[in-house]
Amino acid sequence: MDKYDNDNIFARILRGKIPATILCEDDMTLAFMDIMPRADGHCLVIPKAPSRNILDVKPQDIAAVMQTVQKISRAVMKGFDADGLTIQQFNEQAGGQMVFHLHVHVIPRFDGVRLGPHTGIMADTDLLEKNAEIIRAAL
Ligand code: AMP
Repeated sequence: MDKYDNDNIFARILRGKIPATILCEDDMTLAFMDIMPRADGHCLVIPKAPSRNILDVKPQDIAAVMQTVQKISRAVMKGFDADGLTIQQFNEQAGGQMVFHLHVHVIPRFDGVRLGPHTGIMADTDLLEKNAEIIRAAL
């Protein structure tokens, strides 16, 4: 497995070098909107500690991530009045991972609505902010 790359895109978001539509943050985690959402309200939770994926993350960091995932999941369900949620997490290229800083996807789901493609179209910033506001209000 390659070592952690400090210049990966989520590391740069954590350093404030590139913008993100932030939902919430605590000492150990950050939650923000996925820029190419598979559904309206698709968001990501990451640890602040440098972790490539599930294989190298420290137990306390993955535990903190999952606590934030649960908090965000409840807000997404409530805010979007969703019927369900899909939680995804990919590891290494063969596992579908494209950004090599551990992240967990939270995607609202609706009965009869199929999931969009994994790498789809870049969302409009205003739409991301509108959807973020729905989630923030439900937190
Ligand atoms: P994966 O590593 O396969 O879980 O996919 C990386 C995810 O990160 C995809 O869903 C992308 O849409 C998302 N993504 C990539 N760059 C950004 C960014 N700058 N801000 C927010 N989400 C991003």
